[in-house]
Amino acid sequence: MPEPVRTTCPYCGVGCGVLAKPQPDGSLEVAGDPEHPANFGRLCSKGSALGETMSLDDRLLYPEIDGKRASWDAALDHVARGFRETIAAYGPGSVAFYVSGQILTEDYYVANKLMKGFVGAANIDTNSRLCMASSVAGHRRAFGSDTVPGTYEDLEQADLVVITGSNLAWCHPVLYQRLAAAKEKRPSMKVVLIDPRRTMTADIADQHLAIAPDGDTALFAGLLRHIWENGIVSKTYIEKYTQGFNTALEAASEFSPDRVASESGLVVGEVEAFFQLFAATERVVTVYSQGVNQAVSGTVKVNAIINCHLATGRIGRPGMGPFSVTGQPNAMGGREVGGLANMLAAHMDIENASHRDLVQRFWNAPRIADKPGLKAVEMFQAVAEGRIRAIWIMATNPVDSMPDADAVAAALKACPLVVVSDVVADTDTLAHAHVKLPSAAWGEKDGTVTNSERRISRQRAFLPLPGEARPDWWQLAEVGKRMGFARAFGFRNAAEIFREHAALSALENAGARDFDIGAYSGISQSEYDGMAPFQWPQRAGEDRRRTRFFSEGGFFHADRKARFVPVHPQPRDVTGKDYPWTLNTGRVRDHWHTLTRTGKSARLSAHMAEPYGELHPADAARLGIAEAELVRIESPHGSVVVRALLTDRQRRGSVFVPMHWTDRYAASGRIGAVAAPVTDPFSGQPALKNVAVRISRF
Ligand code: SF4
Repeated sequence: MPEPVRTTCPYCGVGCGVLAKPQPDGSLEVAGDPEHPANFGRLCSKGSALGETMSLDDRLLYPEIDGKRASWDAALDHVARGFRETIAAYGPGSVAFYVSGQILTEDYYVANKLMKGFVGAANIDTNSRLCMASSVAGHRRAFGSDTVPGTYEDLEQADLVVITGSNLAWCHPVLYQRLAAAKEKRPSMKVVLIDPRRTMTADIADQHLAIAPDGDTALFAGLLRHIWENGIVSKTYIEKYTQGFNTALEAASEFSPDRVASESGLVVGEVEAFFQLFAATERVVTVYSQGVNQAVSGTVKVNAIINCHLATGRIGRPGMGPFSVTGQPNAMGGREVGGLANMLAAHMDIENASHRDLVQRFWNAPRIADKPGLKAVEMFQAVAEGRIRAIWIMATNPVDSMPDADAVAAALKACPLVVVSDVVADTDTLAHAHVKLPSAAWGEKDGTVTNSERRISRQRAFLPLPGEARPDWWQLAEVGKRMGFARAFGFRNAAEIFREHAALSALENAGARDFDIGAYSGISQSEYDGMAPFQWPQRAGEDRRRTRFFSEGGFFHADRKARFVPVHPQPRDVTGKDYPWTLNTGRVRDHWHTLTRTGKSARLSAHMAEPYGELHPADAARLGIAEAELVRIESPHGSVVVRALLTDRQRRGSVFVPMHWTDRYAASGRIGAVAAPVTDPFSGQPALKNVAVRISRF
């Protein structure tokens, strides 16, 4: 019997190591990798059910043009010609790639290189925009770089873990398990949960603040004021390593506990208890996720959190720091190669002329995008307006997952060229594709992913490619060659791409950027094959294996100092007479994205069999809604009909609907159609939380 293959789970940003062992009967045995530093052998329900999701019955196995099977040559020629002709007629800004935190870093690298260096525009964005763009913007404003300062170990070493805007227990289960185990071993450790719902994460929380949606800006601004008033600030850290404290403090000074309580929907006593606990505890980690990011004020909230850690100098030391956890398996890897419309590659800045020059020289590219491209929501609006006339969508299903999803469907319907690469044959997005390209799935392709603690791990192929499926990087490289850029896209395998990516990260760097994996720029094929998980940075010639950032400054603004950002809440007065309820969306424990993988497992589907709307019983009584009754949830953009689930875990005035179901899996439940296409002004991240809706019996 062959040895199991070491690979990485394709679901969430925890990035657990998996041992995958194909069985003689064609099934797949899966276990947690005891040697992987993210999970040490643990897996959650989704990861452990991977073997139940591998069937080929719904797979896209052959290229298609206009609904008819085509050869790869014909399909690739068609795509290259379509993009070339569109660019010739309407300019580089008329084409776009919309990619995904599901693809591997090597796929992302080639997509970004083709769009920014060879098409010469920056219209490449990703569904990670929906997940963590506000954290990126907040990091860059504060640190001058998109750096997560800490590691998972910090959650275990902290004396206080503040979890805000995250149902860690369901959305990052193995990280939650690590935290729960640490707390069980050391009961003096405190956990505070800040969330409008009393989610399963509250089971280990010493305090739950059932905050009003978007109330966390005021809460963390008030915390900064409390820290100052109680003399907890680290004057040394502030003076040596930061700028802008006084301005941030002046803005925060307006946030008395009374004002915080009134803006956050909490009572003064619980606000003060939280402040006192934070102030009294040196080793504090603040974990945050989509509940913070998916808001009009997402970036502001991120900076409000970071301000408190900078002010106390509680950053980059064991058990201390702000900690963004990403939703997808490779949101971080995408960021590292510039997979966002406003970034370049290797964490370089598209608006920095010397960075552009460096990347263009390195790629020997004929041109380089010189301004940020369209972010996800803007990109589909541009498609609707005919400004984007050719779009390539890869490993994502925007017709279900984007806000104002019906408008996205209408935009694609009218777009002259829609190319979709996917592993499955039938999604609401594929229904609009002129060209369908079959992609290799998890277990069939090689590459790397980066998890939320900056750890790069290998995904390894252990299954043959089914039908004519091919890796996404190969598809992009073939189109690049057919567009006339054969030398730049002559990659033969994933290792060659990773080597180039590593070399670019170190080029003319000398420590000027956070992301540098130059130590891997000469990696051989066999070293790549055997590559163990590692955290970046890994600079060439440097022995030091740094696992944390910023304990002694070293930020990435030109003066190497961090910036405090004055926090002014951007209240989103969404509710009103016609739409008086607040909708929040999110994940359930056992499902993933739009169900294309987890929907294949009967075991996973049994946890939550259909979409639902979680309501407080008192609100339901007011609306005359009984348990399990069907209810319509409606915004000006669209509506869904879901089953009412009554629970006092829900905050009054709010309803929660999971994000997973599409009309293919349930009669109704496509919640993206209800969400408004409003975005954070700094990050462009859509506000998938705090949506104004009305609720009625169906
Ligand atoms: Fe996969 Fe995330 Fe579960 Fe780990 S915690 S097994 S990465 S879904």
